[in-house]
Amino acid sequence: MATLKRIQKASLFARLAAYALRASFSVLRRVLSTKVAALTAPSVIPSSSHFQTRNVVVVGAAYAGYFAARILAASLPRDGRYRVIVIEPNSHFNFTWMLPRFSVIEGHEHKAFIPYTSAFFSQAPRGMVQWIRGRVTSVRRQSVVLCSGQEIPYEFLVIATGSAVANGLPSRVGVEDRNEGIEVLREMQTRIKAATRLVVAGGGAAGVELASDAKSHYPDKSVTLVHSRHAVMHRFGPELQRTATDGLRRLGVEVIVGERVDPKSADGKFITLASGRKIECDCFINCTGQTPASDLIADIAPGAIAPSGHIRVKPSMQIDDECLPNVYVCGDVADTKAANPNSRIAGRQAEVVADNIVLAASGKTPSYTYEVNWADEGVKLSLGLDRSVSEFWDGKSELLLSHREDDLTMMSGRAWQALSAKPFEDTGLYPGT
Ligand SMILES: Cc1cc2nc3c(=O)[nH]c(=O)nc-3n(C[C@H](O)[C@H](O)[C@H](O)COP(=O)(O)OP(=O)(O)OC[C@H]3O[C@@H](n4cnc5c(N)ncnc54)[C@H](O)[C@@H]3O)c2cc1C
Repeated sequence: MATLKRIQKASLFARLAAYALRASFSVLRRVLSTKVAALTAPSVIPSSSHFQTRNVVVVGAAYAGYFAARILAASLPRDGRYRVIVIEPNSHFNFTWMLPRFSVIEGHEHKAFIPYTSAFFSQAPRGMVQWIRGRVTSVRRQSVVLCSGQEIPYEFLVIATGSAVANGLPSRVGVEDRNEGIEVLREMQTRIKAATRLVVAGGGAAGVELASDAKSHYPDKSVTLVHSRHAVMHRFGPELQRTATDGLRRLGVEVIVGERVDPKSADGKFITLASGRKIECDCFINCTGQTPASDLIADIAPGAIAPSGHIRVKPSMQIDDECLPNVYVCGDVADTKAANPNSRIAGRQAEVVADNIVLAASGKTPSYTYEVNWADEGVKLSLGLDRSVSEFWDGKSELLLSHREDDLTMMSGRAWQALSAKPFEDTGLYPGT
């Protein structure tokens, strides 16, 4: 049995290495092809009198939309026929990964807000990208309508609206402006610092990371994590579930599973579980309840909204509605059966969407497809301020890699660089917004 497990792990490792190699080649190919396109084409899109410029509208600029917009801007015909319009309410790219940590530790909160920059679109001709700060409230057959009432026509539409949470931190800041976001994070830090008995609901990544960071940073506080399923990180493999539970308990976090918190029962002194058990609690943090942000298509394509709230898509990432062939969906809002959506998956879908729109814009059939791959669902989970674990699981065997962490900000600077922003220099809104 032990030998079989070892063989399965070795095979998983080999397939992971092959996957990483393929992914690197694909990145290299894209970088080279966009560089060649940029060298051989005009650096400013011509204002053409031959044809009217058509809009490729991208709604939402995070891991899915921002990357889709970049590929589109670099790859669409550069003759003035198309331009990319990005519509995003947030002043800055919200670096969600760091929100649990920056909810606890002080002095780094500004690093969660990465400026949107024109440098990110350096491979695109000037004038190709137009940025609108706003929120789309509804999608029509050939246009989108913003909160402000403004209507923007589209030839192709990318819906990349991700997910939202009613409770705000630690999954989302719940405000659109960077400075307000920083304040919201500071308020959470102050609440946690002032508390003596914290109760965290939800044993997914956000809950586990927040509870373990809080206990690691404030060992004298009591921290309890309550999760409704049989184990924390229940959507991942059994070894990660065990490792996360052990990591939490090693730090001194009390882990209660198979129980639900009644959030309304929090009275500043106690909180009550569904079983009737009362726990002392002067600070309650709810890490549950992310929902896909699909309401903008509720009128035009209600049948394309799955019971989970995700938007149903075809393998080509076109919306699963024959009446809307020019509408594409990517990222957390798309229903692609990924058990654990993440930014890598969002980025891979963004590529498929952008490549298909480029095909369709030249009159070809959108033929690229997306299928979830177990390697995309790999996760890195912090377990306190100085440890983390990465997991890859193909449903049968599981590979865990433990890490020592010596950077409190988990190398946030790299994320800034990946978005063509200088760490940690705020350059304000996207130019011209
Ligand atoms: C706490 C936490 C930690 C995470 N850690 C990791 C990690 O370590 N690694 C990893 O790979 N993944 C991680 N994830 C998952 C990752 O953040 C998501 O998978 C990713 O954000 C999905 O990207 P997205 O672009 O689809 O959606 P989102 O990130 O949700 O972004 C959607 C964007 O659309 C905009 N938008 C929404 N509605 C509208 C509208 N109506 N009009 C215009 N714009 C709109 C929003 O403002 C937002 O900018 C984490 C998630 C959380 C919550």
